[in-house]
Amino acid sequence: MTPPFTPSSPPSWLDEIPARLADIERAHLLRRRRVVQPAGGAHLLVDGQPMLAFCSNDYLGLASHPALAAAAREATHTFGVGSGGSPLVSGHSAANAALEHELAAFVQLPRALYFYAGYATNTGIIPALVGEGDALFSDALNHACLIDGARLSRATIHRYPHADLVALEAALAASTARRKLVVSDAVFSMDGDLIDIPALLALCEGFDALLLLDDAHGFGVLGPQGRGSLAEAGLTGATASRRVLYMATLGKAAGVAGAFVAGDAALIEWLLQKTRTYIFATAAPPLLASALSKSLALIAAADDRRQQLDARIAQLRAGLAALPDALGWRLLPSHTAVQALVIGSNEAALAVMESLRAEGLWVPAIRPPTVPEGTARLRIALSAVHTADDVDQLLRALHRHAAHAPA
Ligand SMILES: *Cc1c(COP(=O)(O)O)cnc(C)c1O
Repeated sequence: MTPPFTPSSPPSWLDEIPARLADIERAHLLRRRRVVQPAGGAHLLVDGQPMLAFCSNDYLGLASHPALAAAAREATHTFGVGSGGSPLVSGHSAANAALEHELAAFVQLPRALYFYAGYATNTGIIPALVGEGDALFSDALNHACLIDGARLSRATIHRYPHADLVALEAALAASTARRKLVVSDAVFSMDGDLIDIPALLALCEGFDALLLLDDAHGFGVLGPQGRGSLAEAGLTGATASRRVLYMATLGKAAGVAGAFVAGDAALIEWLLQKTRTYIFATAAPPLLASALSKSLALIAAADDRRQQLDARIAQLRAGLAALPDALGWRLLPSHTAVQALVIGSNEAALAVMESLRAEGLWVPAIRPPTVPEGTARLRIALSAVHTADDVDQLLRALHRHAAHAPA
């Protein structure tokens, strides 16, 4: 017999949720979503208001490219909309299969596996590679999904200070684990700096470690024809190492959605067999794969867009260098589309964001826990669709704010 259902007596932990939300708000950490609509170039309608946006990862401006939309539309005639199942059952459509070959060829690595999201890629492949008793080495500024994948794996985690390869070498040397995995962003998502890939790989070669490189912010933008930071480092094609698993996302510069991991054919086959986020999830819709095939062709031919982006990066950095030192604002070193202006406290960063918003400029303030305490910042994301005027507007507004901010 089922016991009678009696509500437990108060207080319930559920009653604490509103107070806990209020705590988040008091710490200036409450996040709000804005409803956005594209309005041409880098312009958006944000909650109905026109804004000039510096917050999109659509670095080449391909997300709204008519050729991608046409490819997706066209694909729906052949494939319909949904994939219908896991890739290991019935979801591996001809479009997805073709895309995997194109991705491998594009990044000049033997084989690729196409996923529906970058978050699921990293949280899935890390536990497929290492487990209890193995060792994982992780840069302190790695993206959240690399951190979550590391935790899920149950491997022993050695977190080394950001980009500190001396500390990494010491940790690798001290480890007696038979399987070692080093995981790192290639371009760090909140700082914009690029890791020294050849040096990182040399360490992995020396200590029989595998390197998982997340190039979410380099793919499409860096390297010859946008083939990514591993290609820029000259470590693809004939000079590729079987010790590198190259992962990149397809919702940023590629302008669509999804991700892939590429590398040695046996390693990729292993991931296909063992990655739970791949096996137990519905495959990406084929219309996205068709759009992505088109996107790869556009990326390869987009030197003009990459030059445009580089010009805007140089313009922004030159303009920010002229800000008064007394404020204590700090522009982090970066030659990528991600430009971080560290303000300091959450409150001060939010104040700058709000004053820019009042002028129709949308630049997100990134706060802990996304970045370390005391380093709240503006994350200025540039795109090939920004004009010189757009960047000038942002610079003028920041200089005006700086002139009025308490030093
Ligand atoms: C955006 C991002 C991801 C997650 O990719 P999604 O496709 O958005 O899930 C993974 N790693 C890094 C470094 C990212 O910036």
